[in-house]
Amino acid sequence: MNTKRKIALVTGGSRGIGRNTAVKIAQKGIDIILTYKSDKEAAEKTVEEIQALGVNAAAFQLDTTDSKTFDGFVKEVMGYVKTITGNTHIDYLINNAGTALYAPFAETTEEQLDEMFMIHYKGVFFLSQKLLPFINDGGGIINVSSGLARFTIPGSSVYASMKSGVETLTRYMAKELGPRRIKVNVVAPGAIETDFGGGRTRDNKEVNSFISGVTALGRAGLPEDIGGVIAFLCTDDAAWINGQRIEVSGGMNI
Ligand code: NDP
Repeated sequence: MNTKRKIALVTGGSRGIGRNTAVKIAQKGIDIILTYKSDKEAAEKTVEEIQALGVNAAAFQLDTTDSKTFDGFVKEVMGYVKTITGNTHIDYLINNAGTALYAPFAETTEEQLDEMFMIHYKGVFFLSQKLLPFINDGGGIINVSSGLARFTIPGSSVYASMKSGVETLTRYMAKELGPRRIKVNVVAPGAIETDFGGGRTRDNKEVNSFISGVTALGRAGLPEDIGGVIAFLCTDDAAWINGQRIEVSGGMNI
């Protein structure tokens, strides 16, 4: 059975921004593959919610810090795609999975830096590279960065630097994949109320009011402020947007 629907793969789609992104993309009639690292229950709940929208959805375990597993992951996912939809390719990849690190520059350890590099840069680089032969010409890749790549808040030197790296990588990917009409863009959220960093933006009153104070629209962001923007980039209306950084922060630190 070939569904003829487009297919999007969202890393870290079990919770937070990735979850809302997967739902919003599904609302556009696109099949969803999402990944989770350890919260299988949350991933399955998201899958059920998406299936209720009338598209195919499935969750796969993936640790994006472990690039040795990527070949096996790609094989497993593409096997699923072939079986369920009859397709041999997907259309969109959203590199969203990620964890926080709050550590002053003077105290950041080598292990912390390596971990941030693996999840926020190396994983994005090689997962995209391994999936590239299986992304349809004319498709798209969206890398999730952060407002912190533009402005500074002490304690995020490593995390933000890796996001800056991904923003530069995005422009190179956009240029090199242009001949295949694959668009590559960055969505850079401001501070969003998710479980990220122990839920500090959502649960720490001081942090939340600091963010509200430096945001033109006067509040911290929510996952639903972000998912629809990424979903828009997965539509034909956005087909001429390429190599861009779209900040979605309610006007944070402007
Ligand atoms: P959450 O903590 O809410 O969700 C993180 C997601 O990533 C989960 O699905 C989690 O899976 C998955 N994940 C975590 N570690 C790994 C790993 N090693 N390998 C694969 N998947 C992993 O985070 P957010 O939704 O807030 O963040 C999503 C993205 O947005 C990140 O890239 C983050 O840097 C970026 N961002 C977040 C901001 C914020 O303020 N929240 C602001 C700007 C950018 P599981 O459920 O199994 O744990």
